[in-house]
Amino acid sequence: MKVLVAAQSGFCFGVRRALDMVRTTLAERGKPVYTFGPLIHNRSAVERLAREGALCVEEIGLFEPGQTVVIRSHGVSPEQERLLRERGVFLVDTTCPLVKKVQLQLSRITSSGQFPMIIGKGDHPEVIGEIGYSGGKATVISSLEEAEALPLPLGETGVVAQTTFNPEKFHRIVDFLKCRSPLYRIYDTMCPTTRIRQEDSMLVSRMSDGMLIIGSRQSSNTMSLFERVGRQNPRSYLLEGAGALTPEMLAGVAVVGIAAGASTPDEEITGVLEGIKAARSPEPVEIVWRSAK
Ligand code: SF4
Repeated sequence: MKVLVAAQSGFCFGVRRALDMVRTTLAERGKPVYTFGPLIHNRSAVERLAREGALCVEEIGLFEPGQTVVIRSHGVSPEQERLLRERGVFLVDTTCPLVKKVQLQLSRITSSGQFPMIIGKGDHPEVIGEIGYSGGKATVISSLEEAEALPLPLGETGVVAQTTFNPEKFHRIVDFLKCRSPLYRIYDTMCPTTRIRQEDSMLVSRMSDGMLIIGSRQSSNTMSLFERVGRQNPRSYLLEGAGALTPEMLAGVAVVGIAAGASTPDEEITGVLEGIKAARSPEPVEIVWRSAK
């Protein structure tokens, strides 16, 4: 059997940076460190962090003065940051620089008098934070249908994207908006690693009989990957961890493709590779990493 692994699989630089910052903070300030919400949208990674001393707390009101609190890579709104500071905690901000860029872009759009708009999922923590940077004024849309239902813009409208939004969907929505009115100003703020990850995964999917997408259902970029790959390769499975691999997923498959979201730990990817080898033993399994670049 041959296994093709999308080269851009697993933790992105923003997640690795956040993890490094938490571990450095643990070493410098001691246990416990609290993360405001799960640092990574992956249960096993969050459990591992908890064992290391980084505990997840979801409500600002539960923090006590002097505690060490980590803002995760998704960022927070200025209001949430103000409330955190008011609790008297020591803040460590791991907001991904690419998310920071969207926040600043929204501030600029709003202060220049343009109407702010975000293409993204309104309930995603990153988008909740970004709405705050528009002073709560941003309109959020997540589909072409929602774009079609918008009234004509009353003035210049600055449009940004949630960093991990599905690139294909983003371009469909943006093409529609540009045809609808010249008043839309588009700022492509999607994360390049998300786009490369999707390109690598689509390449691997085209070359494979079946696809295994490793990651959590809570992870926006994993689900966007699963949806897109699933449309191209109907024999695609979402694996929430190595333990989810079943013999049926490999039955009659000569080439299996593997892709993983930005919040999927390396151990989960190697766990699935080991699971495939064990399931196919004694047949040799060739593992090849492929990139669209
Ligand atoms: S997916 Fe991109 S924007 Fe999000 S944390 Fe990773 S590098 Fe940053």
